[in-house]
Amino acid sequence: TIEHSPIHIMFFPFMGHGHMIPLVDMAKLFASKGVKTTILTTPLNAPFIFKTIEKSKSHSNINIQTIKFPCVEAGLPDGCENVDSIPSPELVPVFFKSTELLQEGFEQQLSLQHPDCVVSDMFFTWTSDSSAKFNIPRIVFHGISLFSMCVSICMAIYKPYENVSSDSESFVVPNLPGEIKMTRIQVMDYFKIAEWIERMKKIGESEEKSYGILVNSFYELERDYIDYFRKVLGKRAWQIGPLSLCNIDEEQKKYRGKEVSIDEHEWQKWLDTKETNSVVYVSFGSVVKFSDSQLREIAIGLEASGQQFIWVVKKSKNDGEEWLPEGFEKKIEGKGLIIRGWAPQVLILEHEAIGAFMTHCGWNSTLEGVAAGVPFITWPVSAEQFYNEKLVVDILKIGVPVGVKKWCLFSEIDQSIQWEAIEKTVRKILAKDEEAEEKRNKAKELSRLARKAVEEGGSSDLDLDSFIAELGSLRG
Ligand code: UDP
Repeated sequence: TIEHSPIHIMFFPFMGHGHMIPLVDMAKLFASKGVKTTILTTPLNAPFIFKTIEKSKSHSNINIQTIKFPCVEAGLPDGCENVDSIPSPELVPVFFKSTELLQEGFEQQLSLQHPDCVVSDMFFTWTSDSSAKFNIPRIVFHGISLFSMCVSICMAIYKPYENVSSDSESFVVPNLPGEIKMTRIQVMDYFKIAEWIERMKKIGESEEKSYGILVNSFYELERDYIDYFRKVLGKRAWQIGPLSLCNIDEEQKKYRGKEVSIDEHEWQKWLDTKETNSVVYVSFGSVVKFSDSQLREIAIGLEASGQQFIWVVKKSKNDGEEWLPEGFEKKIEGKGLIIRGWAPQVLILEHEAIGAFMTHCGWNSTLEGVAAGVPFITWPVSAEQFYNEKLVVDILKIGVPVGVKKWCLFSEIDQSIQWEAIEKTVRKILAKDEEAEEKRNKAKELSRLARKAVEEGGSSDLDLDSFIAELGSLRG
């Protein structure tokens, strides 16, 4: 009978690596608790998800279903089923719009499988109505921190950025714990990009109709904001992360997102020869693409710092090498390693030679760095990345900002960060002085707390259990 069958959750990730990776991890986590899980995706996104879960111990509880994605009909190139493969920025809104074409296939899956609950990405706003049609609770996955959620909500309500007269003048985010100071350039809402305003409105409305949210975070990391979200804003949330920690062995950590572009022996052997905390890992997530001139500044800054680095660049040899100063790789031989394409990020971050992480502060990267216990150099670009920078630098005190003064969207990004700023921050974060040591110690302590949170009886583990129990009670 249904009461005795396992709980069944259907996961529906947005087709972008920063959204798919944590939700696939989440499916694995639930599967490890004996929950039956189904991951919905499009045909071209399925093979890699398959490869990822194949390595998971609980793969027999995970099932992948595909929904046809008529991208050509929607005005996208053939085979464009992931934000990663959108050839030009003008097609981004088309991609978002086209995901509405998945609704029919989604509803078909609901009627066939009738899961206990749906966990779908915030961008799939229509999934609230679809789930309601079948009387199935929908849970939203935003993929961001609760700190960022709280800041976003307070910004939308109070619009504090309207009360300052210049971009450099700071203001306090009203009604939020911790006297959070910001400037306009850090605020998403300030940019008034019509398309995004409309999208955010829809996301808000659809969330109102949903049962609650699942969060990739842990209580000890942002307790004030988790309490604020639940108690002051009165919303239902379960924090069950860091999700990356559900990948317990190397094979699972390696197969996250995409095929890795470097032989594992190459980077591992390279790092094995380095001293503890002596290498900075430089990577900007799955979407950010810097202009050639910004990349050159990074190259010069890294070399000038005299420190060792692993730098992940979203280029292939076929793209030409204009972005690299001449003879660069020869000059940095032994000191720096460039990975062109996709890096096994979690594995690299966990290597003891890594002493800092220069990141765009995407939430997954930020939390992976926290879980690995490394301090940060923060270089936010867009979305809520400036809020994550706040959390890392001002609240957790485990980061040094590179000094970004410009919010950017899309590709060919140039935030005019000069090589001197890169040199300075790399030296600062890897220094052997007290200030850097303090950040390292704080980062290590957070890593310990992160691991404890996901252990049996830890805060995230308890939230996970209580969420599963609640689904059980909804069966009536
Ligand atoms: N990632 C990776 N290798 C890369 C680049 C990214 O494994 O070379 C992973 C990274 O570990 C993280 C995700 O891709 O899980 C990026 O998500 P994030 O939220 O940091 O940034 P986004 O890509 O959404 O901007």
